[in-house]
Amino acid sequence: VFAKVTQGPPDAILGITEAFKTDSFAEKINLGVGAYRDDAGKPYVLPSVKEAELRLVQQMLDKEYAGITGVPAFTKLAATLAYSPESKAITEDRLMITQSISGTGALRIGGEFLARWYPHGKTIYVPSPTWANHGAVFRDSGLEVKSYRYYDQKTISLDIDGLLDDLSSIPKKSMVLLHACAHNPTGVDPTPDQWKMIAEVMKKNELFPFFDMAYQGFASGDADKDAFALRYFVEQDFELVLAQSFAKNMGLYGERVGAFSLVTASPEEKKRVDSQIKIVVRPLYSNPPVHGARIASEIMGDEKLNAQWLGEVKGMADRIIAMRSLLRENLEKLGSSRSWTHITSQIGMFCYSGLTPEQVDDLRFKHSVYLTRDGRISMAGVTTKNVTRLAESIYAVTE
Ligand code: PMP
Repeated sequence: VFAKVTQGPPDAILGITEAFKTDSFAEKINLGVGAYRDDAGKPYVLPSVKEAELRLVQQMLDKEYAGITGVPAFTKLAATLAYSPESKAITEDRLMITQSISGTGALRIGGEFLARWYPHGKTIYVPSPTWANHGAVFRDSGLEVKSYRYYDQKTISLDIDGLLDDLSSIPKKSMVLLHACAHNPTGVDPTPDQWKMIAEVMKKNELFPFFDMAYQGFASGDADKDAFALRYFVEQDFELVLAQSFAKNMGLYGERVGAFSLVTASPEEKKRVDSQIKIVVRPLYSNPPVHGARIASEIMGDEKLNAQWLGEVKGMADRIIAMRSLLRENLEKLGSSRSWTHITSQIGMFCYSGLTPEQVDDLRFKHSVYLTRDGRISMAGVTTKNVTRLAESIYAVTE
């Protein structure tokens, strides 16, 4: 039956971890992982998550199905975390939100819904480069995927002119994917002033924003600051959609906690959209898992635990920022002739190092340092223990 099935290519990122595992060198370094690690290189379960989980166990809740759109306490809190409680989308009852299978599931619900109901074409523009899965998610949803300029390899920074140029010249009313903060894979975000310019151009060209916010709180350590772009667009009266993930900021990766929301024009429109989102979700997975959503709402719904969680997110963000400084310092101390300022100016979990695919290969085969061939370093894999050897290895392949 399956004789004609062809071998598909392995996933680029997961392949790195596979190769890392088979390396027997004791001081090997894995910079491919997209998950936070503590300074001992270990996975980190947030103490606020442990506390919430304990409380849930003590409540001995039943395991009944959630509704199609998930756990209501969770979606309500997820909406205020992203948009803020004062957001006019919420106070005017124009925000439709559904729980999703983490950020990927939110993107997919969005893709499916827009492929059916977006009235002005099926093309979505994504930044170049973007998270490797965006293209596949949107194409499988029935959208056509094109890109706009985002990152300038020469300056290792945002190509703001190219970006604004592209957004003003793509067909009117196209859909545009925006990383709300901590752009993956480059770690390069627009400044608040640049976001304002982006909003202005998008307004002029009547473009439709699709925000992907997978790292709220993780970028700057401040969840409100990281939501600046999203909130600014809502203030500017954009109708828009948002995919949210709690994988990174709560460390709930495998629990698959996320939400997809739409800012609609009126409460009445919201109701109709709600009915169609349910029609998208029901045949996909019927209804979402409850445990992770309960953890997240236990945290966000308790003032003290919420404050504790925000402190822990800041702790993770701060460790990453400290590792950026250490890595740059070490490279400069070694006398590297290159500029490494981008390591500290970039934000979030990833650093787009500017290393070539050949240099990445050298790192892997000569130094047992593993990262994707686009030169993306997961800063979560850097620790006070391995940063010196990492800097020496990078120095060795770049000088
Ligand atoms: N969007 C971006 C930009 C991401 O980096 C990620 C996680 N790597 C996701 C969405 C979705 O991740 P998840 O499905 O684990 O929430």
